[in-house]
Amino acid sequence: MLIVHCPVCGAEGDETDFHYGGEAHVARPATRDPADVSDAQQRDYLFMRHNPKGLHFERWRCDRGCGKWFHAARDTMTMEFKATYGIGELPPRELMKAATGEWAEFFKDKLAKGRKA
Ligand SMILES: [Zn+2]
Repeated sequence: MLIVHCPVCGAEGDETDFHYGGEAHVARPATRDPADVSDAQQRDYLFMRHNPKGLHFERWRCDRGCGKWFHAARDTMTMEFKATYGIGELPPRELMKAATGEWAEFFKDKLAKGRKA
């Protein structure tokens, strides 16, 4: 059983009280005209996801509480939730530093700039 804590309303429960929503921090290609988005950018946005062994960042929904989406840092080896945080926020700094592989690359410039999402 996974114990999940909603950072929005404070509800705590097992994974059946929440809904997994895929990978966190997936950004739609920024453009005014969709024709400006390349096939590779669209492919990356729709299909390319991290698949780490260890620390991973995900979206979850609080089904039996507030109904809001939030982000979670979870270890895919132990299934332990390391932290949950708001949808427009970054994970705790120590978790960004602990990230490996593609996640480490993703958080590198965010660690250098500060805490803005
Ligand atoms: Zn909630």
